[in-house]
Amino acid sequence: MAALTRADLEARDAQDPLAPFRERFDLPEGVIYLDGNSLGALPKATVERIHALVTREWGQDLIRSWNLHGWIDLPQRVGDKIARLIGAEPGEVIVCDSTSANLFKVLAAALRLCPGRHVILSDTGNFPTDLYMAQGLVDLLSHQYELRLVDERDVLDAIDEDVAVVMLTQVNYRTGYLHDMATITRAAHERGALVIWDLAHSAGALPVDLNGCHVDFAVGCGYKYLNGGPGAPAFVFVARRWQEQALSPLWGWMGHAEPFALELEYRPADGVRRMLCGTPPILSMAALEVGVDMLLEADIQAVRRKSVALGQLFIQLAEQELAPFGFELASPRDPERRGSQVSLRHPEGYPIVQALISRGIIGDFRAPDILRFGFAPLYVRYVDVWDTVAALRNIMETGAWDRPAFRVRGKVT
Ligand SMILES: *Cc1c(COP(=O)(O)O)cnc(C)c1O
Repeated sequence: MAALTRADLEARDAQDPLAPFRERFDLPEGVIYLDGNSLGALPKATVERIHALVTREWGQDLIRSWNLHGWIDLPQRVGDKIARLIGAEPGEVIVCDSTSANLFKVLAAALRLCPGRHVILSDTGNFPTDLYMAQGLVDLLSHQYELRLVDERDVLDAIDEDVAVVMLTQVNYRTGYLHDMATITRAAHERGALVIWDLAHSAGALPVDLNGCHVDFAVGCGYKYLNGGPGAPAFVFVARRWQEQALSPLWGWMGHAEPFALELEYRPADGVRRMLCGTPPILSMAALEVGVDMLLEADIQAVRRKSVALGQLFIQLAEQELAPFGFELASPRDPERRGSQVSLRHPEGYPIVQALISRGIIGDFRAPDILRFGFAPLYVRYVDVWDTVAALRNIMETGAWDRPAFRVRGKVT
């Protein structure tokens, strides 16, 4: 590694304004964690918060905690905090359910706001669950609608008079390709369509300006860059201007105007609260709040700057060191078009990732041939990038990846 040395990167870490955050995560000794785009790391404060919640609030105060400790307001409280990370106002975001379920809710709501049009437009790079939720809704609605898929680079041209809703994930989960939210949203509105953005790989990783872009609806994930823990609840955004008209298709009691009036007829709550369905998972929500609080302490612009720098460094080193071994860059080279991950393609991607993991460097694999490296700037260091590329080079040079054990696939890759 001629031009750059490991010492240069140690020096960069020493000057990194975000470096102190790393100590606040409970990362195992010797592990380089490059999968924060799939499951964020554990904040130390979460352990204490959950312990206190379980023993004091649940254990001692029992059901009184819904009022006493404000459990009932957690979906809104945490939603208001997430709003600050994604360019929304208080009262526009609420935390509930999974990303999949929330997408279903806002898609159903949006379609009803666009009568006379019959196309849901998305791209072939979207995450399968987003497409499946749309397919299921189309089926439920007796195929009055059609899901149209185009290449992610052709979305703008595909928005025509038939499109009711443009439903996209801002950052492609495989390649990290970053859509231009402002331009696509503007074009959709000019042509009479609404937009839904999935922020699964954006929230907590890069600045998002939902209201600046006049976005209608959005959903996002709590367990990726927000570090909310496995299966953390997701969030949903409904722009203020749609809140009176947008209806969730799931009329749960928590989304009722007065849940404890226990009326026989559903009446939707005012505002984004009507997107709630059933009882909020308090333990998971409290864990998510800790992760979100930490991101609010960090400057999201600084997070993005470091994310870009880590990605550019990885690309530079990978091209310098891995050229003979058949890797291809699967991510956009232009950081303006890339989220917080860099992906490589290699026909033996699966065993190569397993070999890396056996050395404590945790990335992941996405079929058919993608090696994914997520850079969560709160806990990934510049030296980690160096060490990852050095390990990859060693694994390829020595053929260490080519072992039967590394070809055994778990249920989760
Ligand atoms: C991670 C991710 C999801 C996850 O959905 P769940 O309902 O939490 O399983 C959904 N959409 C996208 C784009 C994702 O990246």
